[in-house]
Amino acid sequence: MATLHLKSGRDRSLQRRHPWVFSGAVRAVEGDPAPGETVTVVSAGGQALGRAAWSPQSQIQARMWSFDPHEEIDAGFFRGRLADAVAARRLLGLEPDRAGACRLVHGESDGLPGLVVDRYGEVLVVQLLATGTEFWKETIADALIEVTGLATVFERSDAEVRRLEGLPERAGPLRGGPPGELAIAEHGLRFLLDPAGGHKTGFYLDQRDNRLRARGLAAGREVLDCFSFSGGFALGALAGGAASVLAVDSSADALALARRNAQLNGLDDGRFDTLEGDAFTLLRRFRDSRRSFDLIVLDPPKFAPTAARVDKATRAYKDINLLAFKLLRPGGLLLTFSCSGGVDAGLFQKIVAGAALDAGVDAAILAPLAQAGDHPVALAFPEGAYLKGLLCRVAGGRVP
Ligand code: SAH
Repeated sequence: MATLHLKSGRDRSLQRRHPWVFSGAVRAVEGDPAPGETVTVVSAGGQALGRAAWSPQSQIQARMWSFDPHEEIDAGFFRGRLADAVAARRLLGLEPDRAGACRLVHGESDGLPGLVVDRYGEVLVVQLLATGTEFWKETIADALIEVTGLATVFERSDAEVRRLEGLPERAGPLRGGPPGELAIAEHGLRFLLDPAGGHKTGFYLDQRDNRLRARGLAAGREVLDCFSFSGGFALGALAGGAASVLAVDSSADALALARRNAQLNGLDDGRFDTLEGDAFTLLRRFRDSRRSFDLIVLDPPKFAPTAARVDKATRAYKDINLLAFKLLRPGGLLLTFSCSGGVDAGLFQKIVAGAALDAGVDAAILAPLAQAGDHPVALAFPEGAYLKGLLCRVAGGRVP
């Protein structure tokens, strides 16, 4: 087996079990491993630290499979890790039945760097995001079938991050046929999704609990669901008794799906409307026409995928949050999110605080919000906590 030798002093993060080896930490590679092949990682002092997948083209030149340098990386290894990931979901009551959905594997935090697996009813959708998971593709597909007892595995490796690994984007069936359109259930609501053509793997499972939270807060309120995609928050609010719900998204396809989802749940009862367009523009337009709401959801796409784009992202988050605060009536609620890896919870809170200040609004955080439990965060991998949110309440008006 090939060996990756670290530079002196560059084993510290691995000693803390952080799974990434950056290119600057690598002194030499002995042997001639193919991309994705397993290498033993050794400190400058000669201590074997574990086994990793070799990723020559990436800044992250190796991702640790195991911190046991003797552990074989083979089919049994993948079966074991996958079974453990499934066990964690079962503990949360999330292992889905025929119609349910959950994330079965959340990459590094499940000890499987570069692997995402979402389960939609009987269908598994995988993203192979690094050379290691690409190398073990067939083994992973077989192991998934063995561990879950399902027959359909569809690949959605058409993610931009693959380019950083020197891998082409790809989508298509891995096991079984193309899944077609599916309907899943979440907290008693049904959602249509298209694993082959929808965003990411077809649905944003990470917001499951927060959508339920919105549902519990929506009764009697006029709701704006900004960045709605297929209407996850909007349907929650309708089911929770909102007076009206307006879903905004720049994607006409997403909003068409949202309307079909409303129909599917019998919630297309005149309270629901959709508006296609750029949220930044539309929020401004609402402000200028003095439109107001009682509950606003802001769930934008990643503005800062990496730390390098944090400044620009900070301005964008500030902008939409400021506008939202201006649109909220006294006592109004804001559920605001960032899924940017480059923006941590502390910075996000500062941005939202700055937005309220500039909007001239007093507001308080009623609850911090985060990704659902099927998107765990390994303690050694704080980067796994990518989704942060705040439930804020604007101070109420005067009592007459
Ligand atoms: N809240 C959704 C997930 C949102 S994902 C849910 O619960 O499922 C982010 C969404 O933002 C995508 O649907 C994307 O089409 C939309 N989007 C991206 N840029 C936008 C923009 N500038 N204005 C409005 N929508 C945008």
